[in-house]
Amino acid sequence: MRIVLVGPPGAGKGTQATRLAEKLRIPHISTGDLFRANISQQTELGKLAKSYMDAGNLVPDEVTIAMAKDRMQQPDAENGFLLDGFPRNVSQAEALDELLQGESMKLDAVLDLEVPEDEVVKRIAGRRICRNDSSHVFHVTYKPAAKEGVCDVCGGELYQRDDDSEDTVRKRLEVYHTQTEPIIDYYKTQGLVTTIPALGSVDEVTTRALEALKGGSDGA
Ligand code: ADP
Repeated sequence: MRIVLVGPPGAGKGTQATRLAEKLRIPHISTGDLFRANISQQTELGKLAKSYMDAGNLVPDEVTIAMAKDRMQQPDAENGFLLDGFPRNVSQAEALDELLQGESMKLDAVLDLEVPEDEVVKRIAGRRICRNDSSHVFHVTYKPAAKEGVCDVCGGELYQRDDDSEDTVRKRLEVYHTQTEPIIDYYKTQGLVTTIPALGSVDEVTTRALEALKGGSDGA
């Protein structure tokens, strides 16, 4: 299956993507994680990406699309993938369509995670992430680690992402509304979108997403 996960920052895309990818046995491809890996390895791409990310802006399409394409063409993605954070604007969606068409492939579904805006800000402000593995995500009040600052899963150090400060979150939300939301309409015209209410427990949201994939898109 080839799936795109869309939703505002803080919707739980990363958490759900990890779980869904495991269940569906396809790789979870997160452009945000790929950029963060480049930043921690101090690559040229990482240095470039960091300046945009810290300001809450999108990294330029040229480098983002090249990086995403390269990842989608790895052998493990041959039979499907779950994209998290890509595409993030209409030109990236068009580039993805072109890439897939070139290989006679198509997307199977687009899941749109829906969360009220005040909830998003609360989730992000308290979010803490493990340095060893970004799928180990905690929250200071909703999901505190047993020992403050230490990952329950692997003992890694927990940190707050540089772009999770309140000002940057507001900017990221604005970028989401102006640049990313239009891809939902783009995919609606292809009949691919299912909207998933993303409030409730992590398990509940995963169940809704899996149901949506089983049932196919609602064509809305
Ligand atoms: P979130 O979904 O919580 O906003 P991500 O980890 O997906 O966080 O992305 C963090 C940042 O990485 C974005 O704000 C943006 O600067 C950059 N980024 C990630 N994916 C893309 C993309 N497809 N195009 C441009 N920039 C991206």
